[in-house]
Amino acid sequence: MIEAPATSIPEACDAASRRVYVITYGCQMNAFDSRRIVQVLQGQGYAETADPAMADLVLINTCSVRDRPEKKVLGTLARLLPLKEARPGVAFGVCGCVAQQHGRDLLLRVPYLDLVFGTDKIADLPRLLTQVEAGDRVACTEVMPRTDYAFVDVDPSVEHGPSAFLTIMKGCDRYCAYCIVPSVRGREVSKPPHRVLAEARALIQAGVRDLTLLGQNVNSYGKGLAEPVDFVSLLEQVAALPGLSRLRFVTSHPADADDRMLDAFGRLPVLAEALHLPLQSGSDRVLAAMRRGYTREAYLARVARVRAACPDIALSTDMIVGFPGETEDDFQASLDALEAAQFDAMFSFKYSPRPGTVAAGLPDDVPESVKAARLARLQAAQDVITARRMVRYQDRVEEVLVEGTSRDQGSSERVGRIAPGMTEYFGRSRTGMVVNFAVPRGTPDPTGTLVLVRIDEVLVHSLRGVRVDARAPEVGGTHGG
Ligand code: SF4
Repeated sequence: MIEAPATSIPEACDAASRRVYVITYGCQMNAFDSRRIVQVLQGQGYAETADPAMADLVLINTCSVRDRPEKKVLGTLARLLPLKEARPGVAFGVCGCVAQQHGRDLLLRVPYLDLVFGTDKIADLPRLLTQVEAGDRVACTEVMPRTDYAFVDVDPSVEHGPSAFLTIMKGCDRYCAYCIVPSVRGREVSKPPHRVLAEARALIQAGVRDLTLLGQNVNSYGKGLAEPVDFVSLLEQVAALPGLSRLRFVTSHPADADDRMLDAFGRLPVLAEALHLPLQSGSDRVLAAMRRGYTREAYLARVARVRAACPDIALSTDMIVGFPGETEDDFQASLDALEAAQFDAMFSFKYSPRPGTVAAGLPDDVPESVKAARLARLQAAQDVITARRMVRYQDRVEEVLVEGTSRDQGSSERVGRIAPGMTEYFGRSRTGMVVNFAVPRGTPDPTGTLVLVRIDEVLVHSLRGVRVDARAPEVGGTHGG
């Protein structure tokens, strides 16, 4: 903690009327953490608000994966400054990976920032806010040792909609050369299986039908637990819970994704036909420099294995261009790997060094212009493959878990995509595709249920169709279709 001018949540404020506004950047893990933050704050009398102008506390939950993350956080804080000028009592906090990495340095750089807390400190939020209310500016970013780490139990009341994330572990022991996660989120700690199952049951009881198990490397799940359990055993136990329609997981490290896990896609009907398997580079030389622990051939063998178990599976990946020493030949190998793997989707990034990583000690020798050009070529190549993969949905009947009314209702009406008197809904297919469909106004709201939609239009990143069922199908849906 450092001494600084007083900035507090107003003392006179009625506890029940306090509001928190949370901005979330980054991955599903951060989205999950944001829900836990809201949950902990609800216990302190806060309600979540979608309007920052109404907030007594504004939190930015940050991510270090993308390019120049600190710049993004500082830019967001600068944009929020007028709120503080209008109402000096509003408290600002930064949490997540950037907070973990930069700690109190952020307090020094941003004089109107009140609180910085790390990814392991969510449960400590009530204590930290008490200090902020007392006028302190607080930085607390200690990474908890494996033995002391405590997961925050999931409270289903803070979840929105029929899909939810559930963390099963935190941290990572892999230490890929470019990645900051092991130093900001610490070593792997697995949540005991009985707690995962209890939380999954509570979420299902609250209406969740599509559950995603979260971990930086889920295949490592179970190490260090008293109960002997590995990731596939946990998957089997969660898959057996009554009422669950779809089970997913992220992220799976290709070096640890064994045949048992890949084959599970062919034998667990609840397991949705979607797998994210980060490749990062198609060059063995670059993969070795990245310390990824697999070759391109080994990776493609896993792709073949999971496609044999589940031919319809939607595969997505992460790719990095411009890693130190990446030559045009290495990059060409990445392009070739995309063609060989035929991914449905790709998330791609230009390499930039992260302080404290092994790669930060290597010369960042691929010029920025070359990185940008390679990224554009890679994305153009994947766009062609994605369009080719999307064709298979045309005229198929997809099981769709409806998430709500479409945000595009107005524009769909304007361009004549939906007729007047219709309400447009959106949901997701088992493979994770967004599917839009319209029903006559007055039809019972299908949100939270499974419906069948025949696809009659394949768009760039979504599908559109006609509902062809009268009621939700049985749990388990159209696996392997
Ligand atoms: S597996 Fe590698 S890339 Fe993934 S979180 Fe761990 S260190 Fe980072």
